[in-house]
Amino acid sequence: MNTHINNDINTDKKADLNTTIFGKILRGEIPCQKIYEDDELFAFHDIHPIAEVHFLIIPKKFIPTLADVTADDSALLGKMLSLAPLLAKQQGLIDGFRTAINTGKLGGQDVYHLHIHVFGNRPGANALRAMGALTS
Ligand code: 5GP
Repeated sequence: MNTHINNDINTDKKADLNTTIFGKILRGEIPCQKIYEDDELFAFHDIHPIAEVHFLIIPKKFIPTLADVTADDSALLGKMLSLAPLLAKQQGLIDGFRTAINTGKLGGQDVYHLHIHVFGNRPGANALRAMGALTS
């Protein structure tokens, strides 16, 4: 397990260090189309959807990338993943969807606040065949 990040940075007290666009969304400094919120997680529609439905699930805790998680984050990661199918269904993705976590520079990550992409087309549309926009 990668534990190179200083754990201090992942505390609520240091949340103001999160200067990413998602940090600003979490603090209400910029608007978003929110679809879910609880004490640990937040989900909202992607501003540049690559499918009919495309939303992001993020932890409120500031974790820059998947490579920065520690064993302490296991429950949080499980919660993020298990939320995906519930929200996908709510958004009409009843016949399936795709998920992606871009990690780091060569992983195509643009926003350095951990997020799961959930995207897909509602029944009747073509199945997703490519992830070009997320992997280029
Ligand atoms: P990444 O490339 O880091 O995996 O994905 C970042 C995602 O955040 C992109 O799909 C991008 O469209 C989305 N995004 C970037 N800025 C904003 C924003 O201000 N609002 C919303 N809702 N999504 C954003």
